[in-house]
Amino acid sequence: MYAKVIVEIGNKNLDQMFYYNIPSKYQDVLNIGYRVKVPFGNRQLEGFVLDITDKYVEDYELKDISSVVDSYQVLNSEMLELGKYISDKTLCSLILAYQVMLPKALKAQNKTDMKVKMNRYLVLNKDEKEVIEYINNCRYPKQRELLKKIISNKKVLITRMDSTINTLVKKDIIKIIEEEAYRYEYVVKNSDKKVILNEEQVKVVEEVSNNLDKDITYLLYGVTGSGKTEVYMNIISRVIDNGKKAIMLVPEISLTPQIVDRFVSRFGNRVAILHSGLSDTERYDEYRKIKENKVDIVVGARSAIFAPIDKLGIIIIDEEHSTSYKQDNHPRYDAKDIARWRSNYHKCPIVMGSATPTLESMARAGNHVYKLLVLKERATGGNLPKVTIVDMKEEVKHGNFIFSNELKNKISEKLERGEQVILFLNRRGYSSMMTCVNCGEVFKCPRCDISLTYHKTSDVLRCHYCGYAHKRITVCPNCRSTNIKDYGLGTQRLEEELKKLYNEARIVRMDMDTTSKKGMHAKIIEDFENHKYDILLGTQMIAKGLDFPLVTLVGVINADTSLNIPDFRSSERTFELLCQVSGRAGRGELKGEVIIQTYNDKHYSIVLSKNHDYVNFYKEEMLLRKELKYPPYYYLTLIKISTRDYEYGFSEANKIGDYLRRKLDDSYIVLGPTMASVFRVNNVYSFQCIIKYRNDDKLKIILRDIDNIYKYNNKIKVEIDVDPIRL
Ligand code: ADP
Ligand code: ZN
Ligand code: ZN
Repeated sequence: MYAKVIVEIGNKNLDQMFYYNIPSKYQDVLNIGYRVKVPFGNRQLEGFVLDITDKYVEDYELKDISSVVDSYQVLNSEMLELGKYISDKTLCSLILAYQVMLPKALKAQNKTDMKVKMNRYLVLNKDEKEVIEYINNCRYPKQRELLKKIISNKKVLITRMDSTINTLVKKDIIKIIEEEAYRYEYVVKNSDKKVILNEEQVKVVEEVSNNLDKDITYLLYGVTGSGKTEVYMNIISRVIDNGKKAIMLVPEISLTPQIVDRFVSRFGNRVAILHSGLSDTERYDEYRKIKENKVDIVVGARSAIFAPIDKLGIIIIDEEHSTSYKQDNHPRYDAKDIARWRSNYHKCPIVMGSATPTLESMARAGNHVYKLLVLKERATGGNLPKVTIVDMKEEVKHGNFIFSNELKNKISEKLERGEQVILFLNRRGYSSMMTCVNCGEVFKCPRCDISLTYHKTSDVLRCHYCGYAHKRITVCPNCRSTNIKDYGLGTQRLEEELKKLYNEARIVRMDMDTTSKKGMHAKIIEDFENHKYDILLGTQMIAKGLDFPLVTLVGVINADTSLNIPDFRSSERTFELLCQVSGRAGRGELKGEVIIQTYNDKHYSIVLSKNHDYVNFYKEEMLLRKELKYPPYYYLTLIKISTRDYEYGFSEANKIGDYLRRKLDDSYIVLGPTMASVFRVNNVYSFQCIIKYRNDDKLKIILRDIDNIYKYNNKIKVEIDVDPIRL
């Protein structure tokens, strides 16, 4: 018998498949999807068995498989199929598609050997009756105590061996057993809150529950606080009652700890959690729980979509507008595409929920490709918060650069009443910069086209793209002036200003700096929840998913920065962000208010966010997309060409542009090459071409051609991103 084995050599996006002879000792155990070690030249490589056959026609002698790595299929038949889809859709090699589905411990060529941890327990080795008799005649209190403990707990974890245990084992009264241990344990912070679903929620749950055997994609459009999470949990209960399992995707677990808490407090240890905060071993253990059928629900970020569940009964994608569902390095898969593939494979529905669905999803709902479900009202009966837009152009005339009068007054008012405030600093696409006031010089990274950001705690200027650091500049290198100012408004600066204004308030800041230590993020949220702080200020991290009943005011310091990004989705992102942030106010009994500070007070994405008017935003934005031929009217593919050699990059980028125009007919629109929005990073120059089209009949072959031409070229990197989420 022969096995066809796929191996990974280097990271060149190449598929290498070879036949090996299966030694007789492995003939009965080996199956497709197994990991094996094979000789390759003078090396040993790990790979996956893709096929087993008894026919092999070439007449040179095959080498033997060296060993079988695991005792089970690491890739089951569904994953073997799914890999082909990923490889085709994202133009990646098959081996890469397989590797991306697996936790590190199970990837081929994984260098670390991850051991399964075993716990040792004491159990009785005799009838309970006999043991009780022994206890009654026993003179040693320690023995009696231990035996009683084992009787009442059935088994007792051994933390340390001692003479008591040894004696009892020797007498055959007890014995030691080993069981697999799972290293990750989630500790629930809040107990489960039972609620009775309202009419709207019941309708949604019924609709989905009555169609659990169909591969329908539902788009659940529900305002913030409308009780979507509650709906998800109810649907999942039905799925479990049917003997099936659920995948629940969330943007990033570390950013939404409250959701995990709600799931674990309701479903207990039948939940596996997969997120980037886990160590490789913890992740491996969670993965094993899934594989060994120890859980009914997998809650996780993007890659949890690959959870190896056999009886998949539902896939839920919370906050479906989140960009985190698309992987932004190779393979550039979209978890939503994978979800549709798996839904089709398992004949189970998908529920994608959002208060601000992507235009693509809403358009599909409009065309009845998806089925639209709506939750119009907030579940707690409260109204959506009242939103006020403040024109900062006027405020700066009065010297208010950071806080408008309106916002200052409101903060004081809330603090006096003992309520809580969230302040949001929009930093997406934003860099705070050091500037010479005398000559206007902006200090930029010498390797990138990005201005340096000043970090007060470490007193250095840092490039957020390449990590370049420079100690603070005190003398302008251009004009020798010492009049240098930090024009940026960072979270640290904001915190200082706040402390000056409200010296009694308890303020906590949440950004990359304050949450870099493991567990800090959850700690800040917990403390704020327990009212140890009055004001929470932060970046994008605090925009989503948080639910604090005492928060009655949300202030957006600078609504504009995300509008200024050169991307056709910048209005959509701004609208979404403002709605999400506003949604943090007034979630409890108390009424909420939102103040949005902006220099673009007439821009539709800001004006319409005032009334949470998604429907009109959708209409307005769709008109623009149609006119400019952008998604959802057209599909996009982005080709990025990067190299250290500017001249060479320019000429190759032009060759690619010409090639595309020559090969593709008029139904395709080819733009570029142009300079990428961040042109130079760490002295690497990037150009890009964009292709717009309505159907991709001919495109795949041409893209494969381009990929094949450049993948052996070490001087230049050509990356192809089908359906990019960022330009
Ligand atoms: P969403 O996910 O849409 O933002 P959540 O599910 O987080 O909304 O619900 C918001 C709040 O309303 C939560 O505190 C939740 O416990 C509560 N809630 C949800 N449904 C109900 C209901 N039917 N009755 C009372 N409270 C509810
Ligand atoms: Zn100067
Ligand atoms: Zn840099």
